[in-house]
Amino acid sequence: IADLSFGLSKLMSEQLKPNDVLKVLMLNLGKLFNSRSQVLCDVSSASGQGRILHIEGEAGILKRGMNFGLSNANSIYAKGFRNNKTEMYDHLNANLYRFNEYHPEDEATRVITSPIVDENSRPVVVIGVEYSLEDLYSGSDKTLLNTIALNASSSLTKAKIFQKMEKQATIDGLTQISNHRHFQDLMDMEMERAAREKNVVSLLLMDIDHFKKFNDTYGHPVGDLVLKMVSKALQGAVRKTDHIARYGGEEFVVILPQAEGELGRQLAERVRQAIEDIKVPHESGHLSVTMSIGMCTYPTYSSNKAELIEYADQALYYSKEHGRNMVSL
Ligand code: GH3
Ligand code: MG
Ligand code: MG
Repeated sequence: IADLSFGLSKLMSEQLKPNDVLKVLMLNLGKLFNSRSQVLCDVSSASGQGRILHIEGEAGILKRGMNFGLSNANSIYAKGFRNNKTEMYDHLNANLYRFNEYHPEDEATRVITSPIVDENSRPVVVIGVEYSLEDLYSGSDKTLLNTIALNASSSLTKAKIFQKMEKQATIDGLTQISNHRHFQDLMDMEMERAAREKNVVSLLLMDIDHFKKFNDTYGHPVGDLVLKMVSKALQGAVRKTDHIARYGGEEFVVILPQAEGELGRQLAERVRQAIEDIKVPHESGHLSVTMSIGMCTYPTYSSNKAELIEYADQALYYSKEHGRNMVSL
């Protein structure tokens, strides 16, 4: 048991996603306890109620996704969130039951509950290990579950911090869309996929027209607002499978998988129009901006990423030289 417990703690601490910490926990709890079932509950962000997240072993009357009131004084799982400590319960009854109301199954059940807490020591998940009364139950199980819950807590916090850092590393702070670095990864991914599937991928390089003058006239904060609104408009103008990113400054990119030629041009035109349609609120009435776009396609007109970006940039330059607010291939 000590080896298994150590193994589980190590495995949880290696997970980079919070959900994977809970998954690993659920898949292994049954090996550590002679229990009938293992239950994980969290708090539903939609309803603010307790919710059954996972059940392993015999579910009985329990169902995944079932909600229960967290302020219910008679519910031992609700108590798990409120009392914030490991508890063991025998002899459940009409005044002490598992979830919403007493059920005959409860009477024949022994339960140990233990909270998994966040970085502020607030319970975010409650683990329940449930036995039939005649099951083999070891007196050290409560301590064991307590230890596992503590380790799960630190693993979960670590995974959440990792996830947050990873997001910050890929998302542009001002516009909340992918940054340049993430664009490079997305481009690699889509080019590899195009090569594998004998398909194509197009790249749009885009630059806001006369943005320096816009900033000089209306001020930098209004310029920042425009960048945010451009990002929103881009999100609304592309397909679900496309990717948008802030390339730098007032330059943006769109990756269009499986699009070239006329379809590519149509999608680019839709993007150009969406930017032109933006109405920036301002005391002098609505302001607007336009964007010049250059497009190139892999592998039709370029044989690697450097070429793809270089040729899209040349097409963008062509748009700038020939009147701006236009798409060039
Ligand atoms: P062109 O049509 O040739 O692209 O003209 P332009 O003025 O847009 O070109 P230029 O590259 O000279 O100017 C880019 C401007 O974008 C300069 C800078 O003030 C502005 N800019 C870059 N990043 C930001 C930002 O984060 N916020 C704001 N408000 N402005 C930015
Ligand atoms: Mg520029
Ligand atoms: Mg510009």
